[in-house]
Amino acid sequence: MNTFATQAVHPVPSGKQDIHAALRTPVYDSVAFEFETAREMELAFTGKRPSHTYSRISNPTVEQFELQIRALSGAVGVVAVSSGMSAITTSVLALAGTGTNIVTSRHLFGNTLSLFERTLRPWGLETRYVDLNDPEEVAGAMDSNTKLVFCETITNPQMEVVDISMLAGIAERHHVPLVVDGTVTTPYLFNGKEHGAAVEVISSTKYISGGATSIGGVIVDHGGFDWKQAEKLASEYRAFGRFAFLMKLRREVYRNTGACLSPHNAWLQTLGLETMPLRIEKSCENAYAAADFLESHEKVTSVNYPGLDSSPYHVVAEKQFRGRFGGILTFELQDQERCYLFMDNLKLIRRATNLNDNKTLVLHPWSTIFCEFSDKQKKAMSLSSSMVRLSCGIEDSSDIIRDMTQALEAI
Ligand SMILES: *Cc1c(COP(=O)(O)O)cnc(C)c1O
Repeated sequence: MNTFATQAVHPVPSGKQDIHAALRTPVYDSVAFEFETAREMELAFTGKRPSHTYSRISNPTVEQFELQIRALSGAVGVVAVSSGMSAITTSVLALAGTGTNIVTSRHLFGNTLSLFERTLRPWGLETRYVDLNDPEEVAGAMDSNTKLVFCETITNPQMEVVDISMLAGIAERHHVPLVVDGTVTTPYLFNGKEHGAAVEVISSTKYISGGATSIGGVIVDHGGFDWKQAEKLASEYRAFGRFAFLMKLRREVYRNTGACLSPHNAWLQTLGLETMPLRIEKSCENAYAAADFLESHEKVTSVNYPGLDSSPYHVVAEKQFRGRFGGILTFELQDQERCYLFMDNLKLIRRATNLNDNKTLVLHPWSTIFCEFSDKQKKAMSLSSSMVRLSCGIEDSSDIIRDMTQALEAI
């Protein structure tokens, strides 16, 4: 087996030769696929012979992207979807329902928290928030109606890291899958299978797309969970065994919700994957340099980055993420006004909301991505109005630091 970086450049053969022997899988921008006979059409629709029928269900360009992610993560199977949010929504809808609950932390991507609270709670799906680093609290929140445990690999903007093997052990003892949002780590930094994640959801909009070209997401089944234990997948389990979750998605939830990824976006993201290892290395290096610089600056109150010894999550992050710590960090200035002044004085770093872009981006989480929550709710999420978030790109670190130096001087 080739190493990750080599595998990323040499796609898995789809098993079908392109009619022009194109070296790169083309964008198959076609909604429908034709059959020679009515009988062949029947075999395709009944799932007896795998073939593309309609691009909301599967598409050759999207399939190529799925096969690449599968190879890179060592998974049983992958379903690519229209966004990171649809990866989360589709997975949750496949596993949980009215009268059941999810156990997670309040330290979540803002839209995920909004999905759980504003969208799913009114449908009778409860979400219970605990400190995921406290095994007793996690186990105490679980009962026979718990259908999944959910966590993020490095939470944003709290920069909290949970010991995922520990959490997977608790989920396993309760016979429920651990669903991990691995957006900010990707299979390059985090091996979900090794750490006991049953399912991994990833926003491919971030590191994978490579330069913020397109929105997309993937759902990865690592194959470590026995789906016989998932009540909601009983009929899929009888028909498809270990592929129960993937088939529940493909033949029902993913298909019926119309969460498909466009072929053009799949093509862009397959292209992005090729350079992802290089870009992640550089952005992690830059984040480390930026954190180190900020920590020693007199105008900076505190820096939160798992790569620093001062982070309570340094040790667990180091062992879990192959000695890297991600491209995102937060830091605190004296107050909100100074955060704005700092941001407005930046000349190179861009004021924009994305993560793991090629460009270094800055934002003020309190007043932007979390603006729909009250001050009290934001405090419960460990947010602060004097916090700035920095997502490091792949520029030269000396230029990033020079820009921050002059912006800090101006405040
Ligand atoms: C961006 C992000 C998402 C949502 O992804 P989209 O592709 O924007 O829908 C989910 N989780 C995390 C951790 C993210 O950073």
